[in-house]
Amino acid sequence: MGYPLESIRNIGVMAHIDAGKTTVTERILYYTGKTRRIGEVHNGNSQMDWMELERERGISITAASTSCSWRGCQINIIDTPGHVDFTVEVERSLRILDGAIVVFCAVAGVESQSEAVWRQASRYRVPRLVFINKMDRTGADFQRVVEELRGQLAANAVPIQYPLGGEDDFQGIVDLVGMQAYVWNQEGMQKSGIPSELVSTAERYRLNLLERLAETNDFFMEEYLDGVIFPEERIRQLIREATLKGDVYPVLCGAALRNTAIQPLLDGVVEYLPAPADMPPVRGIRPNTGDYIQRVPSPEEFFSALAFKVVSDPYVGKLVYVRIYSGNLAPGDEVINANRGVRDRILRILRMHANKREEISGVSAGDIVAVAGLKSTTTGETLCDPLDPVILESMVFPEPVVSVVIEPKTKSDQAELASGLGKLTDEDPTFKTRYDRETGQTIVSGMGELHLEILVERLLREHNVRARVGKPEVAYKETITQSGQAEGSFAGEAEGRRYFGRVVMQFDPLPSGTGFLFENRLAGPVIPKEYLPAVRAGIEDAMASGILAGYPMVDFRASLMDGSFDVRNSTEMAFKIAAAMAYRSGLKKAKPAILEPIMMMEIFTPEEYLGELISDITARVGKIVAVEDYLGGKVVSAYVPLRCIFGYSSGLRSKTRGRATFTTQFYEYRKVSQEVQNELVRKTETSLV
Ligand code: GDP
Ligand code: MG
Repeated sequence: MGYPLESIRNIGVMAHIDAGKTTVTERILYYTGKTRRIGEVHNGNSQMDWMELERERGISITAASTSCSWRGCQINIIDTPGHVDFTVEVERSLRILDGAIVVFCAVAGVESQSEAVWRQASRYRVPRLVFINKMDRTGADFQRVVEELRGQLAANAVPIQYPLGGEDDFQGIVDLVGMQAYVWNQEGMQKSGIPSELVSTAERYRLNLLERLAETNDFFMEEYLDGVIFPEERIRQLIREATLKGDVYPVLCGAALRNTAIQPLLDGVVEYLPAPADMPPVRGIRPNTGDYIQRVPSPEEFFSALAFKVVSDPYVGKLVYVRIYSGNLAPGDEVINANRGVRDRILRILRMHANKREEISGVSAGDIVAVAGLKSTTTGETLCDPLDPVILESMVFPEPVVSVVIEPKTKSDQAELASGLGKLTDEDPTFKTRYDRETGQTIVSGMGELHLEILVERLLREHNVRARVGKPEVAYKETITQSGQAEGSFAGEAEGRRYFGRVVMQFDPLPSGTGFLFENRLAGPVIPKEYLPAVRAGIEDAMASGILAGYPMVDFRASLMDGSFDVRNSTEMAFKIAAAMAYRSGLKKAKPAILEPIMMMEIFTPEEYLGELISDITARVGKIVAVEDYLGGKVVSAYVPLRCIFGYSSGLRSKTRGRATFTTQFYEYRKVSQEVQNELVRKTETSLV
């Protein structure tokens, strides 16, 4: 079965857009697939391989995880998107990968987006190799980028290679551990001695490497000061240990486009990045007791895996990418989705390669594969052995804060719309849809205007839904601010049958982010147990719209206090309606309020625009939290209500002639002022008339 735990590397390739992430990934897939292609390379033009690879990219580069092998190790490359608007995609890949290559451009160096990516990776303590790419470009400066890493990112970046030449004359690298030079030319990679004019520089860099390593390891420091000469193997071992702890970030370089220095980068992945066996046990909770437990990464443990991406595949239907944290998995296995408490069956297990998908007969702890056959599993959910269920710590998904109304063009498009939306929500947990009963509209919410634009586009193109899409709007919510009790009673007659149900419900506010809780606080058996799910469902249906302006209700507890039933006439439907009635009148007494998303905003600007931008943010009721120096300009951090920064980018562009940029990230939901609330309520009332 597959590779042992020590011989797997789950890595991501991360970069600022344009630094060369795609090119580096393609070259990695090319070199790791080379043995299979030797024949072709012999009898023809190796240029062909590239074109083939380009063509096959459809499944390779865009797969959520692509497997390849190098020096006896299996490397699973997890796709990480470059665009900051897709923060959630970056976060979810960080959750399941063990190490990363971060690509920087040798000319542009550390850019604002690479800083964001670096910070995210640090938050998850991901060990990283730095690859300074595009060493062949005019203006390439290895040492400057290393200094930026150490300065701007405060990263202990330590070169383990030194470039041989640069710009037009870039030929290869000096390996500072083995003290060897490698050049790339028509014949491929050639090993040679270090050119004499570079020897003293290489020695200086090697000394720097040893000193930095010594700083991370007292024992080594002593030996080092005693003048002990270290064998290459020992140094590699020290680099590995320091990298795994996050004490150093080894720096390598090359030019992916020119096929230069990719092999040593792959060596670095195998030598210095963690195997699943190096990872601490994963944490989770037992679904029935809520107790915290740990699972060590071992095939001997019960099976557990986290679904991190769901895609609709043209060949096999729904394909779920999973990271196996413990145990083994084989086709035909029955697993339990611990988040939903339902059983699901594995039909096929697939490994995605650069140019093919391979059906495999089993997979073990530490590995990443795609599985077909799972009906009810979506991103972030845990699959596990029914004998010992666990819910693994999932990723944190940011709140969807922008909404649009989407309506089918004709009645016949309604079904397509529902199924298309269903598939898209399966794939992307930050994309939510709801149906507003009052207005009869379908509303979809996402993380930003761009995020929604792309989703709507996919809906129209990939799922052939003909629909009208409204203007993007802020995704408000409603909550209550005090407790309130109410009775709901439904008695009626239809088609010769009578209905009856009566409940008394209490509604209490909960802390922000808690969502919804339902509690049964009946003193005695005044309502048979079998009707409780109907009461709960009545509330759950009703909370899709709050009572002030129809926004979804959140952060409250509904407790069933009392009620009555009637043996002959009570039905589930009657209790559902009674609960919805209690919801309406109970919430009125509980002082409802409207919540709005507050964004954390960072604006990068040249100093000359600082004053104007700050007064503009203040006018948008933003709260400035910091103004700092950054790359010769300023960075302003502020909390601003989302409703005040719609369309901010075009205004900023014209104010600063395109020289300032900004990013936003969801921070929290907060109560709006009474004035804004009145305005929002008035707007809903007029739209309903
Ligand atoms: P990504 O946006 O990070 O995926 O970057 P790409 O791999 O798409 O590369 C961006 C651009 O840089 C493309 O035009 C590449 O051809 C070019 N590029 C990538 N690597 C190198 C390199 O090593 N040297 C040079 N000169 N250009 C490169
Ligand atoms: Mg790319």
